[in-house]
Amino acid sequence: MKIEKIELKEISMPLVSPFETSFGRTTLRRILLVKLFSDGLIGYGECTAPEHPFYNHESIDTAWLMISEYLAPSLIGKTFSHPKEVSRFFPQIRGHNMAKAALETAVWEFYAKAQNIALSKLLGGMLKEIPCGVSIGIQENIASLLKKIEKELLEGYRRIKIKIKPNHDIDLIKAVRKEFPKLQLMVDANSAYTLSDLQLLKSFDDYNLMMIEQPLEHDDMIDHSELQEKINTPICLDESILSVDDARRALSIEACKIINIKLGRVGGHLSARRIHDYSLARNIPVWCGGMLESGIGRAHNIALSSLIGFVLPGDVSASSRYWHQDIVEPEIKITSKGTIIVPTTPGLGFEVNEKRINELTQRSKRF
Ligand SMILES: [Mg+2]
Repeated sequence: MKIEKIELKEISMPLVSPFETSFGRTTLRRILLVKLFSDGLIGYGECTAPEHPFYNHESIDTAWLMISEYLAPSLIGKTFSHPKEVSRFFPQIRGHNMAKAALETAVWEFYAKAQNIALSKLLGGMLKEIPCGVSIGIQENIASLLKKIEKELLEGYRRIKIKIKPNHDIDLIKAVRKEFPKLQLMVDANSAYTLSDLQLLKSFDDYNLMMIEQPLEHDDMIDHSELQEKINTPICLDESILSVDDARRALSIEACKIINIKLGRVGGHLSARRIHDYSLARNIPVWCGGMLESGIGRAHNIALSSLIGFVLPGDVSASSRYWHQDIVEPEIKITSKGTIIVPTTPGLGFEVNEKRINELTQRSKRF
C-alpha cells in the first residue's frame, strides 16, 4: 500500500464542562486530526497532544511542526505491507511520540479498512465490550465532587478516578470514601508530589484505593520504586512509561504494579500492544488512559482496550461527557452495565462526520 496524500486539520471543540488537573484548567480542546489517503480509502488518526506542554513536552503546536516538517514528508509516497513497518519510515527524531502516534494510528485504521476488518480485530483484541471508568477533574469543592460522582455512577460507570494535588487530596479521599464505601476509587496526581510527601501518601493506604497514578516526577522511576516499597496502595505509572523498555525498567525495580497505556504517549498501536503483551506475561494489569479525545481518538482507544490484558476499567467514556456534538457517528455511548461495545465494522467502526469537522476546522495542510 502506498500513502498518496496526508491531510492535517486542527479543530477546536469546546468541552461540555471545564477539566482541571494539577497542570491547569482546559475549557476548549484544540485537536489535531490526521487523514491518510490511499487506494480510495481514508485512515483517520488523532494527535493527543494538549494545548500546552504540561503533561509532557508536546503540545498541539509542536506536533503540527513535527508532522509538517519531518513525519508527513517522510511517509508520503512510501509503500508498506503492514502498519508495523510505519515507524521505520520516520526520521530519527527523539521523542514526540504523540505526533508520531497520530500518523501511526491512522495507518492502522486505514490498513484495517483495506483488510475489511475491525481495527480491534487487526490488533488482536478479543473483548466484545470494554469496562468504562471516568476521570473527574478537580472540582470547586467537596460537595460538587460528591454530586458529580453520584451522577457518573447513575450513568453506569464502574470506577471513578479523581484528580488530586497538594492541599487538595486527603480530605477529598476521606469524603468520597465515607459517602461511597464500596466504590472502585483511584486517584491521579500527575506528578504533583515528591518523596518528602511520604507520610501523606502513606495515609492514603487507609482508604482502599485501587491505585495512585503517577504520584512523583514524570521521569523518576527510582523514587517511585522507593515509594512503592513503603506504601500499600498500588502505584500506576502513566507519564513515566513511553515504551516497552520503560515498562521493563519500571517492573524490574518494582516502581509500579499497574500501567496506564495511552496511545499518544507511547507512540501508537504497535508500541501500546508491546507494553500490553509484556505486562500480560507478567500479570501486570493495564488500562487505557484518556487525553480528552474527540470521537476519532476515543475510537482508537476502544479498539486498543479490546486486548485481553485491559482488565481494569479505562478512562474511555461516552462522547456526551465531553462534547455537545462529537465528530463521529453514532456518538460513543455506554451501556447500562457501564461498558462500551467494541464495534465490529471495518476500521474504527464509526462514521467520521466530515461536515462537523469542517465547521470546527481552524487550519489545515496537505502533503
Ligand atoms: Mg494520569
